[in-house]
Amino acid sequence: RLEGVFRRLRGHGTLTEDNIQEAMREVRMALLEADVHFKVARDFVAGVTEKAIGREVAKSLSPGQQVIKIVHEELVALLGGNTEQLRLDGRQPVTIMMAGLQGSGKTTTSGKLAAMLKNKGRRPYLVPADIYRPAAIEQLQVLGDKLGVPVHPSTTDTRPVDICRQAMVAAAEKNYDTVIIDTAGRLHIDESLMSELKDIQEAVQLSEILFVADAMTGQDAVTVAEKFNHDLAITGVVLTKMEGDARGGAALSIKSVTGKPIKFVGMGEGLDALEVFHPDRTASRILGMGDVLTLIEKAEAVVDKKEADKLAKKLQKSEFSLEDFLDQIQQIKKMGSLEQILDMVPGINKLRQLKDAPRPNEKELFKTEAIIRSMTIAERRNYKIINTSRRERIARGSGTALADVNRVLKSYSEMLKMMKKMRGKPGALTGMKRRK
Ligand code: GDP
Ligand code: MG
Repeated sequence: RLEGVFRRLRGHGTLTEDNIQEAMREVRMALLEADVHFKVARDFVAGVTEKAIGREVAKSLSPGQQVIKIVHEELVALLGGNTEQLRLDGRQPVTIMMAGLQGSGKTTTSGKLAAMLKNKGRRPYLVPADIYRPAAIEQLQVLGDKLGVPVHPSTTDTRPVDICRQAMVAAAEKNYDTVIIDTAGRLHIDESLMSELKDIQEAVQLSEILFVADAMTGQDAVTVAEKFNHDLAITGVVLTKMEGDARGGAALSIKSVTGKPIKFVGMGEGLDALEVFHPDRTASRILGMGDVLTLIEKAEAVVDKKEADKLAKKLQKSEFSLEDFLDQIQQIKKMGSLEQILDMVPGINKLRQLKDAPRPNEKELFKTEAIIRSMTIAERRNYKIINTSRRERIARGSGTALADVNRVLKSYSEMLKMMKKMRGKPGALTGMKRRK
């Protein structure tokens, strides 16, 4: 829905109060639809409006893109800016306690986290401290067995705080470096649960208290997060079930309300479905725009809009010379690796799953660059003059084989042919540009 507004914003030279107001109404709707708390949405929009009014529009961006950029920047900042690491330094074993309501994903996340840490070379120890729910201990035991991670032999007749004390002793004895305590949850916040968790907090030195919340529960999760943070002073948040329809609004609200960083997101039931939280990705998701924004940022940094327009015209007229080709390679190199750039194009992942999808090949790209660099200006402007003796010279000069030079020229001439064919199909070549 946002894209429409931003398209309308285009054509204005500077950001004015009116065109920003219109865009902000839509932004607020998008936030509410993404399950952001209304107060958070209101404050957010006010902050962005203030920042946007009067801001000069960057040369390479349209006003619409400029607003997207400001909105996106602010969202990222609100979501915590950078990704946050777990605190694993200090005296070993370090201890991580999971807390949250029943069904939020504490046990599953304990397993996922153990898997992640084990992969990083740590020696995790899983501690079941939910003695109420039938089979809760076994649930963690099964996960531990699957992962090859040791699980503390908790029993339902031991108080959770005693289980944790004993587990710390056992972990130190066996030289485990990371203790993960999986606690009990209730369907609703309840004082006896809180005091049980506080007891553990007092008895054991906790490096992290991760509040685990189900992203699908939206606003409810916010109230619960506030309470857990108030009582336990949580150190971070894990949002589970983020792979579904949840658009990440809960992330923004929980971060705003607790001030605590979101450290991980659960993206599925599998034990490998835990990801480090990326504020920028979630910001894009909240805005419903894929990672296009990241692409805009990168492109903005390196591609001059005028240059891009010139190039698009050349492409349409099939005047794309080998010199232009070289320029393109330079631009691409500045933007990062080809893989990274492709990752940001919406829909590309579906394409990539196709078996014989072309893979970007960086080595080839650099070889191509070397080859074009070894050509004279005249050759770059008119490839047809490049006869066999010239080809041999170019190969020697660029340290490649004659076959490499032939291949570059062949794919270049094929590209020209393809461009001729595409001419007259509006948008066929400028699809990327239009999306910006
Ligand atoms: P606990 O009561 O807090 O310990 O919650 P559990 O770990 O037992 O998880 C409750 C349910 O949520 C289980 O069916 C899990 O498989 C599921 N679950 C946990 N994390 C995720 C997630 O990231 N995505 C999805 N789809 N399901 C999850
Ligand atoms: Mg559990």
